[in-house]
Amino acid sequence: MKTFCGRANPTTGSMEWFEEGEDYDYHQEIARSRYADMLHDKDRNVKYYQGIRAAVSRVKERGEKAIVLDIGTGTGLLSMMAASAGADFCYAIEVFKPMANAAVKIVEKNGFSDKIKVINKHSTEVTVGPDGDMQCRANILVTELFDTELIGEGALPTYEHAHKYLVQEGCEAVPHRATVYVQLVESRRMWSWKKLFPVHVEAEDGEKILVPPSEMENCPGVPSVCDIQLNQMSSNDFSTLSDVVTMFSVDFSKPVQSASTYYRVQLEPVKSGKAQIVLSWWDIDMDPLGMINCTMAPYWVKPTSALQWRDHWMQCVYFLPREEPVLQGEKLYLTACRDEYSVWYNLQKAREGENKADEEEHKADVGVESPVCRCRAHLLWNRPRFGELNDQNRTRQYIKALRKVLETDSVCLCISDGSLLPVLAHYLGAKQVQCTHPSRIDLYHPHELWQFLKANNLEDKIKIIEARPELLKPSHLENKKISVLVGEPFFTTSLLPWHNLYFWYARTAVSTHLASNVTVLPQSASLHVMIVEFQDLWRIRSPCGTCEGFDVQTMDDMIKDSLNFRESKEAEPHPLWEYPCKSLSDPQEVLTFDFTKTVPQHCLSTEGSLKLLRRGKSHGAVLWMEYHLTADISVSTGLVQISNEKGNCEWNPHCKQAVYFFSSVIESEILSDPTAVTYAINFDTKTGEIAMDFKL
Ligand code: SAH
Repeated sequence: MKTFCGRANPTTGSMEWFEEGEDYDYHQEIARSRYADMLHDKDRNVKYYQGIRAAVSRVKERGEKAIVLDIGTGTGLLSMMAASAGADFCYAIEVFKPMANAAVKIVEKNGFSDKIKVINKHSTEVTVGPDGDMQCRANILVTELFDTELIGEGALPTYEHAHKYLVQEGCEAVPHRATVYVQLVESRRMWSWKKLFPVHVEAEDGEKILVPPSEMENCPGVPSVCDIQLNQMSSNDFSTLSDVVTMFSVDFSKPVQSASTYYRVQLEPVKSGKAQIVLSWWDIDMDPLGMINCTMAPYWVKPTSALQWRDHWMQCVYFLPREEPVLQGEKLYLTACRDEYSVWYNLQKAREGENKADEEEHKADVGVESPVCRCRAHLLWNRPRFGELNDQNRTRQYIKALRKVLETDSVCLCISDGSLLPVLAHYLGAKQVQCTHPSRIDLYHPHELWQFLKANNLEDKIKIIEARPELLKPSHLENKKISVLVGEPFFTTSLLPWHNLYFWYARTAVSTHLASNVTVLPQSASLHVMIVEFQDLWRIRSPCGTCEGFDVQTMDDMIKDSLNFRESKEAEPHPLWEYPCKSLSDPQEVLTFDFTKTVPQHCLSTEGSLKLLRRGKSHGAVLWMEYHLTADISVSTGLVQISNEKGNCEWNPHCKQAVYFFSSVIESEILSDPTAVTYAINFDTKTGEIAMDFKL
């Protein structure tokens, strides 16, 4: 079987489709999967085991045989727990074939083949009866089908079906119930991920304020969940306006309904402020009495209890459709609407003198429609990009740099996706400004930018060129040569930091249109590397060996195989502000890219070494780009600073950095004779990709 995989080509900025063998998909999925992270989640594993033991005991006490249905068995872990706890038989269902195969091996290796039957099917395809997959219905239902939003992986329809067809009435469920909690907050930082704030520009002829169009102001945004490591959000970044409130719960031991519905709670703000964001997380009770509880609550909710780090379950940030000023003690209604797979929120003020009858009526006009972006800006800019555009310090750097290079007769071309640079260039006095948005030209008509220009009366000041850089004609530029070429650079198709080097390729493609004394901003870029020890992120790629006494090495081997598939270990993108680490080496600049010249034909390679200066475990290397706007103004998309002598790092909060995990961890102990990690890095100018290798 062949599959088609879409990937952006960093030399053209556009999507290309490749035919790949069936294995490719499997390996990608396994290599980047969360299985290792789940197996390292001690808190989860211990509590599942406790819950399963208790459920088996309850069934046995009733004098029944314990028949377990484990939907989504993965490695077979929860079924093995059940079998060890004395279950008579387990049906372990797994839809993903490579995992089902692994489960068979793991179950056998641990000696449970006679107690556990692995079935490689989606649970809704499973049959019950003498000739079926299952001999009879189960009386214990064990699952772990949750994502950060609880229901995003289809837990509700799966439970609904299981209760109808696969388990007995009154079955024991582990977990027994899930509860979703919410807290209303005001946060300029998080709100800046949804809304464009006015941009202030100090121009020659006074201050200019760039405002977003009203369509954007009133747009509810996109429905996709925003899941983050909320524990990395400083308490200075938000202010809580309500207590933690229970929004809804689901009892998994009873029939579950997956059809769209809504839940409503009454709130009284504990503080006046601007209601913007609903923070949300859930917990699961493994037993009916709620004695065995596994919670995703962030640090400020139960400050005394130890937090389990995990990446497979985080916390959710929901953006209210509109910012709502609220007063302490006033009566509010918060509504959670959900369909089968997602949740969204709405806030309403209780009306004056509202009574019970009004309340009923109120219920009727609760909006149940999921948010849909109407302004299209939320399709062009994702949440980190909104944050980046709202970063005033960053904007200031660009303004400072533009001011240095622009002249009153400048003919300026901007190449970047959905960038505000053309507007800044205009305000700062460029005579003629045009822009092109290479990655998105085929997808989105530059409508949103135009709306933006219109809202600021700039329609006739900035020309949007609807042609990719390589197709630019002199007529697009009114037969003028470009004297200033600018880019952030930022392209929506970039996955890894160096993919934004597409700017260099575009600059090369427009060479014939450039004046001989053209200024290119940024004038160059550089690639930087640093060796780090992660506080937690290492877990997602680290072998597990045994998990709660069960040998899961087969899984480790499988992940290793997939990572080594095609013998090319790759760097992967991670937003490191969410994943604390400390630097073990100094940051080092390893490659530079000169935008004043065209992309060379030959590859750019470098070799060298990084001295380990601190004691610690070298989990991997982090790579990022810095852009040198002018000789003395640079912006970093990676390291902002090393904050203290311990080496804790502060990262750009809007960008993902590239992480290259070492296949074996290097422990550095002594500092008198520092160890060094050698590297070989190669930028292939034909493909725009970077290959790397690190050795102790
Ligand atoms: N139970 C394991 C793995 C949990 S991950 C553990 O706790 O460690 C969830 C697994 O469920 C994934 O492997 C996914 O492929 C599988 N899955 C999800 N929904 C399913 C369904 N309806 N039927 C069968 N497998 C499912």
